[in-house]
Amino acid sequence: MSQTQPTVNPFAEMQAGRPTGPLVQGYEVIIGFETHAQLTTQSKIFSRAPTSFGAEPNTAASAVDFALPGALPVMNRGAVQRAIEFGLAVDAHIAEVSVFARKNYFYPDLPKGYQISQFEIPVVQGGKVEFFLEGEKKTVRLVRAHLEEDAGKSLHEDFIGMSGIDLNRAGTPLLEIVTEPDMRSSAEAVAYARELHKIVTWIGICDGNMQEGSFRCDANVSVRKPGQPLGTRREIKNLNSFRFMQQAIDYEIRWQIEQIEDGKSVQQATVLFDPDTGETRAMRTKEDAADYRYFPDPDLPPLVIGREWVEKTRAEMSELPRVMAARFVKDYGLPDYDAGQLTQSKAVAAYFEAVAAGSQQPKLASNWVMGELSRRLNTEEKAIEASAVSSTQLARLISRISDGTISNNAAKQVFDALWTGEGQDVDAIIEAKGLKQMNNSGELEKIIDEVLAANAKNVEEVRAGNTKAMNALVGQAMKATKGKANPAQVNELLKKKLG
Ligand code: ADP
Ligand code: MG
Repeated sequence: MSQTQPTVNPFAEMQAGRPTGPLVQGYEVIIGFETHAQLTTQSKIFSRAPTSFGAEPNTAASAVDFALPGALPVMNRGAVQRAIEFGLAVDAHIAEVSVFARKNYFYPDLPKGYQISQFEIPVVQGGKVEFFLEGEKKTVRLVRAHLEEDAGKSLHEDFIGMSGIDLNRAGTPLLEIVTEPDMRSSAEAVAYARELHKIVTWIGICDGNMQEGSFRCDANVSVRKPGQPLGTRREIKNLNSFRFMQQAIDYEIRWQIEQIEDGKSVQQATVLFDPDTGETRAMRTKEDAADYRYFPDPDLPPLVIGREWVEKTRAEMSELPRVMAARFVKDYGLPDYDAGQLTQSKAVAAYFEAVAAGSQQPKLASNWVMGELSRRLNTEEKAIEASAVSSTQLARLISRISDGTISNNAAKQVFDALWTGEGQDVDAIIEAKGLKQMNNSGELEKIIDEVLAANAKNVEEVRAGNTKAMNALVGQAMKATKGKANPAQVNELLKKKLG
């Protein structure tokens, strides 16, 4: 931990008091995250050039991004707005005054020779991200979130014996979100990253596209024997999918433990995960904050955010996912797990609420949205917005289960017909497929009498106390009704007749 960065918790040893996760070969795992979220502004953080992805090289960059002499940065208000929204979403302090600093280093895709970032006084300070992991509530504390500009890209393909430089990405607004080393397993780390992803996409400050690099996570990983001081960390860069994230961290944990068990030490380093080999590989030894010679950028005044701006933003923000999830638990009586799943995106939450309202059956609505509907959406790789079954249709279908018209199994057939477009109207499909449960007890009684008459041996065994024989009779009755009877009703009638 660097001495010069005061907003980072200087008492890392206090971490010793935090709950321990599952030990790996007797070692405790410690993970902290740094995430770069690309902000959804139309233009760059300090220039008017567009932030569009995939344009012809060097067509989306201005004099400021090219670092032409005399070109001066001007702060983009939209980027600040998004930083405030993030701070409020994670219960952080929004600094009234924060400062931009120059982070000096040389790289061909950084023509100024420094990156404009925030160092000693970031715009967002503290805060926390909460989520459930296997039914247990977890809190990961944030150290800070600061605004900074992205660098350009070096292009190596299409060039022989040289590299190309594309400055389209230079000056793209980023929010770097830094956690305390609070995570205790790869599963917890991935759950944190998913929750953070959910928050930034939910409030709309980031599109969350990991493939395009809009949401880039670096995982700092170390291991120690319980009770020992924090071990030396290695930082895994650019984990661009949640699956790789878990693989990379698990590999890194095993690698570090092996080093220590072999009597070697772990050197602080930056490593890259190679999805092809499933291994992490050292890229460079880690530089210290001092190497960057940070100092306040004289081209930019301090960033001043009035209380009114913060309060106006707070008033205009929509319900946050964790607040909505708590409401689902309270108002609909759903388990925490369901509430978390249903608030994975605004669209899923809205769909669920429409089904719950239409059917008056929130738990059934939850089961169908998380079950049958998700399954179909996943297999066809569709977003819920493109669902072939509308919330109105699903609500009607669920009403037909709860009022006893159809069984759960029959409902799946109706869902199928709705999904494939075979039919549009739930009641018409039930009618056409003859799926109505037999609710007329007179009709059912007649069938049961026939079943009893035809299975005299089973009847005798039931009377002798054999429950298996009872099941056989229920089975026979269901078969005779072609599955249209309500099994509970069949059971009841049988008991009455045999009892
Ligand atoms: P740097 O200045 O090198 O970026 P920071 O102090 O900002 O370092 O920490 C970067 C990240 O590493 C933070 O998310 C922090 O929680 C995490 N971290 C710090 N020490 C450890 C450690 N011993 N093990 C795991 N993660 C750590
Ligand atoms: Mg850092």
